[in-house]
Amino acid sequence: MTKGKIGVTTENIFPVIKTFLYSDHDIFVRELIANAVDATQKVKALATAGTLGQELGDIDIEVKVDKDAKTISFIDNGIGMTEEEVDKYINQIAFSSAGEFLEKYKDQVGSIIGHFGLGFYSAFMVSKKVELDTLSWQPDAKPVKWRCEGDPEFTMVKGTRTKRGTTVTLWLDDESAEFADDYKIEGLLAKYCKFMPVPIVFGKEKEWKDGKYVDTEKNHIINNVEPLWTKKPADLKDEDYLKFYKELYPMADDPLFHIHLNVDYPFNLTGILYFPKIKDKLELSRNKIQLFCNQMFVTDSVENIVPEFLTLLHGVIDSPDIPLNVSRSYLQSDANVKKISGYITRKVADKLEEIAENNKEEFESKWDNLKLFIEYGMITDEKFCEKALKFALFKNTDGKYFHMDDYRKAIEPAQTDKDKKVVYLYTTDPVAQYQYVEVAKNKGYDVLVMDCPLDAHYVGLLEQKIENSTFARVDADTIDALIRKESKEEVKMSDDEKKHLTEVMEALLPKESKYNVKMENLGPESAAIVITQSEFMRRYRDMAAVGGGMNFYGEIPDTYNITVNAQNPVIEKIKASEQGLSADNKLLKQVTDLALLANGMLKGKDLSDFIRRSEELL
Ligand code: ADP
Repeated sequence: MTKGKIGVTTENIFPVIKTFLYSDHDIFVRELIANAVDATQKVKALATAGTLGQELGDIDIEVKVDKDAKTISFIDNGIGMTEEEVDKYINQIAFSSAGEFLEKYKDQVGSIIGHFGLGFYSAFMVSKKVELDTLSWQPDAKPVKWRCEGDPEFTMVKGTRTKRGTTVTLWLDDESAEFADDYKIEGLLAKYCKFMPVPIVFGKEKEWKDGKYVDTEKNHIINNVEPLWTKKPADLKDEDYLKFYKELYPMADDPLFHIHLNVDYPFNLTGILYFPKIKDKLELSRNKIQLFCNQMFVTDSVENIVPEFLTLLHGVIDSPDIPLNVSRSYLQSDANVKKISGYITRKVADKLEEIAENNKEEFESKWDNLKLFIEYGMITDEKFCEKALKFALFKNTDGKYFHMDDYRKAIEPAQTDKDKKVVYLYTTDPVAQYQYVEVAKNKGYDVLVMDCPLDAHYVGLLEQKIENSTFARVDADTIDALIRKESKEEVKMSDDEKKHLTEVMEALLPKESKYNVKMENLGPESAAIVITQSEFMRRYRDMAAVGGGMNFYGEIPDTYNITVNAQNPVIEKIKASEQGLSADNKLLKQVTDLALLANGMLKGKDLSDFIRRSEELL
């Protein structure tokens, strides 16, 4: 028997391991399985190279839980270790400054532990005793058993394994007794090892017999050793991608599209990203992308690795080149991560462009669902925006879709104003703004639907990106003011008359808002009084509502534009009447209320007064 002290400079590493890793202590499952996978891959490589000199045999990894003894075992048929190797790899912990290192990086230690040769020692996060029984593949190797009871002392004795490989057994400590549970361990295996490349056996498949579940002969394998992303895209069908999606997110609706990522230069990266179908436009869940490193689950918080807007996507990314062992803030400035993130953005944009070109109908039919991702991407990512301008669509109030260039060509003749700017009209709610949409359409104009929560920001972006353009909501002003053509005949009023008109209208309108009152010639067909809210005001208010740090604008009172149509026959009649334009004129009160009613602004007592007055007038 050999006795010794584990070779770490820090006096005792075990309390360090236990304390620092407390928050994430279930990763010991991943670490021990990862070691077993490594050992198995190595023995497979020897067999392939023809140097193994023995049967390869079964190459699975078995995990066993003994509830009563409170032990967990990890059994592999990998290369095993000789006594010298145990001494070298296990006793003299790979790097001697483990303690200092842990001290320095205690916050991220969960994600780094596997990458600094501390993997095996993570077993001590949950164990009071760990035993390693191993037999090397080498011809004259003898089995060796290593045992350590949570202090730097270890013992090494003759082992009991008769077959090549390693068995690691953990005796759980009292605080970790919860892990001596089949469901718990199966859950962790499913979380960390679902796609590891070597079959992991956990008990037997069960069948229903004589009123209860009994074990069958067949091993219960918990992982899929060849997940879809490791296969060649050319060998896969849409159904395969759909099936894999269901495997990842059993509760989700079918996705809109998938993108298979596959690069080997200048870095390695594979993966499949899905555009999910979202039911509620505001219900967006991030962090559905899972990050793997050689099929080993690493994390599902991928911010800083994929571009922000793509964190809304679902799927998997597997790359051995993403540095997982450093802090999050470092990740942002890491050149490799930048390249990876740029690559993913480009790939996603290319795929969307390709679908938009080749499957126009499909793209249009999915646009309403897709639009949120694309707009978000365009707003937050300059490079994506440049590409997306080529395939993003506009939808108008007739439910027709247009490419941006085509749309511009279509509206240019009618909707260019006197300053040579093309005015894009839009509505955020075709039902509520129906009246205004109709007025615009009757003029021969087209109206876009912009009903997505991000549209207030998006419209601002488009004004910068599309040359010589302005966007105006249909109810932002009278239609002629939105698209100003050659100057029309102005209504001549003195300052006193203007002041008087403002006072009269303010007396007739609700007190809580502010008004800009003017008189214009809108033609005899148009309403007597038109109420609008300025594009500028409303846009900033909308942006404040979705959160754009513009809260200042959210607090100022509503301001409306009130346009009295001098050419409307009722207004002409009022002007000619004895009372003229005065607040006491019932007819003026009536047309004002009609305008308020059309905007959903007539409420409560004012509404019932209006109805009574209408009856009187009739
Ligand atoms: P890492 O795996 O990061 O190198 P570990 O502390 O987990 O660090 O393991 C140290 C070394 O011990 C491994 O590199 C490997 O050589 C050896 N080892 C650990 N587990 C096994 C195993 N199940 N079979 C064979 N060798 C192993």
